[in-house]
Parts: sequence; C-alpha cells; structure tokens
Amino acid sequence: MRRKLAAGNWKMNGLQGNLTELDALAQGFGDADCDILICPPATLIHRAALASGDTIAIGGQDCHAVETGAHTGDISAQMLKDAGASYVILGHSERREDHNESDTDVRQKARAAIDAGLKAVICCGESLEEREANNTLDIIGGQLAGSIPDQVTAENLIVAYEPIWAIGTGKVPTLDQIGEVHDFIRDRLVRRFGDGVGLSTRILYGGSVKPSNAAEIFGVSNVDGALVGGASLKAEDFGQIITALASA
Ligand code: PEP
Repeated sequence: MRRKLAAGNWKMNGLQGNLTELDALAQGFGDADCDILICPPATLIHRAALASGDTIAIGGQDCHAVETGAHTGDISAQMLKDAGASYVILGHSERREDHNESDTDVRQKARAAIDAGLKAVICCGESLEEREANNTLDIIGGQLAGSIPDQVTAENLIVAYEPIWAIGTGKVPTLDQIGEVHDFIRDRLVRRFGDGVGLSTRILYGGSVKPSNAAEIFGVSNVDGALVGGASLKAEDFGQIITALASA
C-alpha cells in the first residue's frame, strides 16, 4: 500500500505572516490519513519546520548538487536538512525553464538530496506542443530515465507528473490522459527498479489541482496524491484537497 501524499509548493510566495496557514493545517489535519508536505520558500523553512512539528513535513523547492562551496545564492541538500526539511522538489518545470536545468542536473541534485537524507520529489511533464505532437510519453520516458538516479528506494523517491500547460493555467488534462501517463510512469519504474521499488513509489499529479477537481483526480489509477501550487497557499483550499485525498 502506498501512503498518499498531499504536497504544497508555495513557490516564491510567503512571508513570516503566512505561517499562520501552516498553523491552521497542523491544527486541522494532524490526524489526516495521508502525508502532508509544504514546500515554502527557503527563508521560511526553519520556522515552518519548528511550527509544524511532526504533523506536516517541510521541504525545499530546489537544492545544489554539491555540499558546500563557491556557489553564491545556492542552497545545498545538507542545508535544507539542517534547517528542518525532509523533502525537496527537484526538476520543477519552472526550474527547468528559468534556470535551464537539464535531466542530468536534476539527477545530480536528486543524488545529493538522497545522500543528505532527503526525499526527492522529481518532476516531469510535457509542454502543450509536445502533447499536441503526440510525444507526451516519449518526453516523460526520457525525463524519467535522465532525471532519476540509480539506487533509489520507495521511501526516498516520489515522482510528480506535471504537464507544463496545466500549471497555474486552470487547464487540467482529462482523467484518461492523467491515467495514461501515471500508468506509463508506474510501468517505467517497475521496469527499471523492479516490483519492490516500482510498485511502492508514489506518483503525484500536479497542475491546477483545486478543491473542485481533487476528488475525481484522486480516483484515477496510480495517482497517489498531488503536488499543488496556487491552491496550497490557503489552508482552507489545501485542507479541502487533503480531505479529498484522505477519503479517496
Ligand atoms: C506547480 O507549480 O507545481 C503546480 C502544480 O501549480 P498549480 O497547482 O498552481 O497549477
């Protein structure tokens, strides 16, 4: 049985005052029947980790591939762990686009994250042009092969399928389209890592998940949770998504 995961990506949003949203989640969903993860901006990780205790896991949104050194502005996996994070999102399409991150970059970061004791949430997803050209599965297959390091476990790897055209747009793939990609990802994980890791690794869907569409998305095969952007900023909205996941 895969334990479901509701993950929130706050992106470059959130000041100290916004930690009240985290407090509300911790108080309201401490005994929810799923894992809950919030990835705030790096400036809030330490306080968020103190505030959320054991109830909600805290994650980073990126990390560098090396431990220390002359990399102004970057943050290492050890630093995230030291600040109280237990997860890190890697290879988000905004990082791939804004910072030209390649699959190799993502794989090296993921290796560093796992070595530091973090769980890596590795993102993949096709552009609209790639979908319209019927290349979705080829693109996803390539990203999985290139971005996931060897020697992962079902505990330290999470895959997030996030079609780029669905992120922050309000557009969502059909349930059949989501199911097709999630089944494909499951198959690729099983082929590469065997049944043990392949069948137990969680696969999240991300892209315009909100309270009104969460339940139907969570009913799709091989959807083990969600990576949520905009709707994770307010405890009221994210709470409804958590409730939908816990009862799926
Ligand atoms: C994301 O950026 O990971 C995301 C899924 O964003 P949104 O939920 O806002 O589409």
